Amino acid sequence: MTPKILVIEDEPTLARLLSYNLTQDGYEVKVVEHGGEGFQLAMQQAHDLIILDLMLPGMNGFEILTKLRQKGVRTPVIILTARNAEEEVVQGLKHGADDYMTKPFGVAELLARVSAVLRRTKSDELMSDDLAKSNDKVIIIGDLYVYPEKYEVILHNTSISLRPKEFEVLLYLAQRPGFVVSRDDLMNIVWGFDYFGGQRTVDVHVSSLRKKLEMSQQSVQIESIRGVGYKLIVQNQVKRVTE
Ligand code: CA
Repeated sequence: MTPKILVIEDEPTLARLLSYNLTQDGYEVKVVEHGGEGFQLAMQQAHDLIILDLMLPGMNGFEILTKLRQKGVRTPVIILTARNAEEEVVQGLKHGADDYMTKPFGVAELLARVSAVLRRTKSDELMSDDLAKSNDKVIIIGDLYVYPEKYEVILHNTSISLRPKEFEVLLYLAQRPGFVVSRDDLMNIVWGFDYFGGQRTVDVHVSSLRKKLEMSQQSVQIESIRGVGYKLIVQNQVKRVTE
C-alpha cells in the first residue's frame, strides 16, 4: 500500500518542493498550509507520516504536535526547524516528534529521513506483534543480540552481564536504534511513573551500561543528546527481529 504523507507547511515553494519529490518517490502526499487545518486533517484521516513545519499560521507546529499526542494520535512526525535553532529541536523531540530536518535541507536527505522513519515504525509494529506471540525472540542489530525474555545480551559472541534495569534500558534503546530516546521516556518505561528517584538514576544506569558495552571494541555506543536523552549507535546497524 502506498504510504500516505501529510505535509503541513506554509511556504509555498517549500511545500511544492516537498510534494513533488515525495510524490516522485512513490508516496501519496497531501499538503496543507494552515496550522489549524493541518491539525484537523491529522485527526480525521490516517497518515503514515506527518511532516510538520513549526511556524505556521493559525496553530503552530508545537501546538499541533502536543494536541495530537494528547489525543492519542501516534503518527510519526518529522518537524522542520529553522537553522541554528537547537532549542526548537529539543522542544520538538520532547513534544513527541520522531525526527527533525533543519532548513534548508536537500531532497536526498529528506527522502532518506522519511524512509528511515517509516521503516522504523513498521519494524516497531512487527516487533510488538512478535512480542505478543513469541517467547524466544531476539533483536539483532549488527553484532548485538538482545533477548527480551531471557534478559540476555550477546555482543561479538560474548555474553554481557547486565543488571535488570540496565538490561531494560538497553532493550528500549535497541528497539529504536539510531533514534533519540528521551530520559523521560526511559524513566517512565523502565522505572514507572510512580518512581521517586530523579533523572540522575537514568544517567547512572546508562553510564554503567555504556561502560559494559563499550569494553568490546566500541562498535556499540550510547550517545548523549544534551537536554533530551540518548541514542543507541551500532556499527553496521540493521535491525532484525527473529524468533
Ligand atoms: Ca513556516
